[in-house]
Amino acid sequence: MAGAAAPRPIVLTEAEPAPADAPTLTDVLDWHTSEHGDRTHLVLTQGDGQDVSLSYRELAERSHAVARGLRQRGVETGERIAIMLPTGLDFFVAFFGTLYAGAVPTPIYPPARPSQFAEHLARQGGILRNAGAALLIAAPEAGSVAALLRLQVGSLRGVATVDALAAGAGALPGPAHPDAMALLQYTSGSTGDPKGVVLSHANVLANIRAMGEAMDAGPADRFVSWLPLYHDMGLIGAWLGSLYFAAPLVVMPPITFLVRPEQWLWAIHRHRATLSAAPNFAFELCLRRIADAAIVGLDLGSLRMVANGSEAVSAETLRRFTARFAPYGFRAEAMAPVYGLAENAVGLTFPPLGRAPVVDRVRRVALTAHGRAEPAAPGEADALELVACGRPLRGHEIRIVGPAGELGERQEGRLQFRGPSATGGYFANPGKTADLIEGGWLNSGDLAYVAGGDVFITGRSKDIIIRAGQHIYPEEIERAVGDVPGIRKGCVAVFGVRDPRAGTEHVVVAAETRETDTARLDTLRALAAEAAARLLDAPPEQLVLLPPRSIPKTSSGKLRRAATRALFEQGQLGRRPDSPARQVLRL
Ligand code: ATP
Repeated sequence: MAGAAAPRPIVLTEAEPAPADAPTLTDVLDWHTSEHGDRTHLVLTQGDGQDVSLSYRELAERSHAVARGLRQRGVETGERIAIMLPTGLDFFVAFFGTLYAGAVPTPIYPPARPSQFAEHLARQGGILRNAGAALLIAAPEAGSVAALLRLQVGSLRGVATVDALAAGAGALPGPAHPDAMALLQYTSGSTGDPKGVVLSHANVLANIRAMGEAMDAGPADRFVSWLPLYHDMGLIGAWLGSLYFAAPLVVMPPITFLVRPEQWLWAIHRHRATLSAAPNFAFELCLRRIADAAIVGLDLGSLRMVANGSEAVSAETLRRFTARFAPYGFRAEAMAPVYGLAENAVGLTFPPLGRAPVVDRVRRVALTAHGRAEPAAPGEADALELVACGRPLRGHEIRIVGPAGELGERQEGRLQFRGPSATGGYFANPGKTADLIEGGWLNSGDLAYVAGGDVFITGRSKDIIIRAGQHIYPEEIERAVGDVPGIRKGCVAVFGVRDPRAGTEHVVVAAETRETDTARLDTLRALAAEAAARLLDAPPEQLVLLPPRSIPKTSSGKLRRAATRALFEQGQLGRRPDSPARQVLRL
């Protein structure tokens, strides 16, 4: 279907955001369709200038056709429909088609490289079984993977393409209840097995409205996004938020950005985008991979806010990105470090609009050994830098708790939250749901402190290493080791392994390199160990250099430290066991 859409100009008729009392996502689309149906809602750009667009009316009409096809195939209200489609107009149609059919869209990532098919099948099979998915919507190219999934998953009654479904003629059900499930959002699993976060229409709409308010979003905005649509930030943050506020969304496949990051910036330039969002690694990729020659004439002056979230935000990245792109019109106040998680739909804390990033320098030992975020003196060398991620969205609350209850200002503890966006739990997973919800609050799984009203995320509780009573934050060491020339930046994982004899955890640094020469590998190992030791006070207990693509990552590009640890403990870390890079250095 995407191929059938012809390039045509963007239509921007007068528009208003959806009404504040729209009860469901389909009511939002219906309202836009009746008020300004011809207005452009989506622009799909492949980075080659061949943009195709979709108006509200086209999205609604095509989605109705798909909904009829789903009902004709016996899909019933509340059933989960897995959507395994790449970024393209079909994805949006499949999503709303599922909603109009009264069913629950469950996005999963499409197969990528053939070498990853086995892992893809195992992960997606696990998700589809947990979801009890009734039908799988897939692209024709993914037919063989879809067929294999169907064999693995007992609940799956069939596999269909959007085109096949759009030929259906079933009757559509009545409107959904605001508390009905609008979306089953599987977390990408950076710390463990994917969990299906149940989100009602009311949850999603509460989050979109609160984020929109924090961004002052409206029909005059334009959002550019390359974020994957199967992940909360791309799906809810970029798309559904833009839908609600009548801000056209210019969307490009993640691979377009990953291959040539300047395409993201050029799309912002071409469309005079005001809003965008990306995880920290994307800003790093721009710094590393964009040559000056590729951005001659680039103008980022239209951007008024680009959210940086979904993983640890680095003060260093913010500084370097702002300095590098200031000559191209990028303003420091446009960079907005945000914090959120799928269990709260997506966004939880946002900084005040138009504020340049705030960085807190705290004394390292006070934080790592005593959980106190004491401001470092101006010249104090042994300091940690943490980036302020703002305050809770309106109507949402957070608190920091320790073993004896709620903690005060500048005390590090577990971050809990509650509010109208918060999920009621994980789908068909009472054990994980019981761990998540504690006395009316939800456990984020993150450690943080609050200072001056801002939240500062110090790390994920599961990833923090406790060595001899001292907290070690993997991100900081990963960044330092990643800065060593010859080590692949963003491809370093630091994790703890329990040493039963010592009764504490040992630090393991796993780092990827393209280097194969034995002598140079030795030098690299020494440099990497030295970079880690500077932050650890003592060298890491083990350091392993690995060939590229050895360290597992989530579908959204985050490091999977627990999975890396599991491979390490099984002696399986490193795809090519005979590679000269794969030698463990015991320090
Ligand atoms: P899983 O929870 O299964 O490991 P996931 O990481 O993909 O999967 P998401 O809901 O997508 O789950 O990500 C939320 C997590 O991302 C947060 O709990 C937090 O650890 C991290 N995160 C998000 N924003 C920030 C931020 N600004 N700073 C540090 N960490 C962040």
